[in-house]
Amino acid sequence: MPPAMTDVLTDEPAVPSFAELGLGPASLQAIADAGYERPTPIQAQAIPLALKGRDLMGLAQTGTGKTAAFTLPLIERLEGGPSRTRALILTPTRELCVQVEESFRKYGKHAGLGVISVYGGVAYEPQETALRAGVDVVVATPGRLIDHLEKQNVVFDDLEVLVLDEADRMLDMGFAPQINRIVAQVPTYRQTLLFSATMPPEVEALARKYLRKPLVVQVGRRSSAAITVTHAVYPVPQDRKPQLLAHLIREGALDTVLVFTRTKHGADRVVRHLREQGIEATAMHSDRSQKERTAAIEDFKAGKISVLVATDIAQRGLDINGITHVINYDVPTQAEDYVHRIGRTGRAATSGDAYTFMATDEIGMVRTIEHVIGQKIPRISIPGYDFGTL
Ligand code: AMP
Repeated sequence: MPPAMTDVLTDEPAVPSFAELGLGPASLQAIADAGYERPTPIQAQAIPLALKGRDLMGLAQTGTGKTAAFTLPLIERLEGGPSRTRALILTPTRELCVQVEESFRKYGKHAGLGVISVYGGVAYEPQETALRAGVDVVVATPGRLIDHLEKQNVVFDDLEVLVLDEADRMLDMGFAPQINRIVAQVPTYRQTLLFSATMPPEVEALARKYLRKPLVVQVGRRSSAAITVTHAVYPVPQDRKPQLLAHLIREGALDTVLVFTRTKHGADRVVRHLREQGIEATAMHSDRSQKERTAAIEDFKAGKISVLVATDIAQRGLDINGITHVINYDVPTQAEDYVHRIGRTGRAATSGDAYTFMATDEIGMVRTIEHVIGQKIPRISIPGYDFGTL
């Protein structure tokens, strides 16, 4: 067993502190008042990314701390800004609406921001009066909000952040038309955060429509093969990497995958393993003739093979449209290489996903990469393929 193993097991759960996530004094004070000691996993993943202004898809159920995961970055963004309605949080039910409003008050109590909730089944006028008076944040159920929008009790011309909470439930409840009407009235240039406990195709479609280059953060098990992750690290023992790769390609129905290995032999080994598993793959590295390389790329482009395994040779010059996934089978030793490789995907405007397999002796390299790119890459553990199997 490598000596780093105990480090890993104690290291992985070592969650950053709230301060390390980039939150300011007002939020930190509110968190301390609430008695929270450490961020929950969804908070640790989502908060730094949301603070950077990225669109996020958060896969998390109630009870995971998801409300603070979107509320805290929202408060950071709005604090001290102009008093206009700058954020809207849509929720499926009035219970959740009230709960989110309460959370906002709790987490934002030192930030001096106003929030109101609007939902159906209660008197309309007090909501109308409050909306017309102006407020920083509106938490609403879609149906009642439409009524207010129609009467122009509130306008969203200055909206900066839109949160769709429990998106799967909103769609289940038939709110898609209302959501569409509401989103049509908010500025296109905004930050959108979508949270959902599940990711059925309808929610994916909603995300594709309304989110820009979203990053996906999730806690718990991957519940469906359809879930895609924009940018993620899989902690995996070195000797389980071949199985993890085959699993992801098969279960995730990955189409055109560019896999990077550190060495030529590594590339050949990966190809062999995939073929043994019945997955058509080909290698591309400097031991192969130019003709072979060209043929490999053509087959890849034509969709005859779905997996191309390459060493660094493919990294910069290769411009293949439509690559859906890049997988770093080995963690790149240079952070710049990571950035270039990630750049392979997303060129053809499809959402490109980039996965990095991280063995125990590669944790330091991932940290360096995170430092260079200035963001923490979400970790995804697949039971049976992660360090927990050791
Ligand atoms: P939510 O998933 O947002 O409904 O939150 C579930 C519960 O977890 C709420 O009662 C929160 O007050 C609580 N909570 C949220 N974040 C933390 C944290 N970092 N530490 C402890 N409790 C938390």
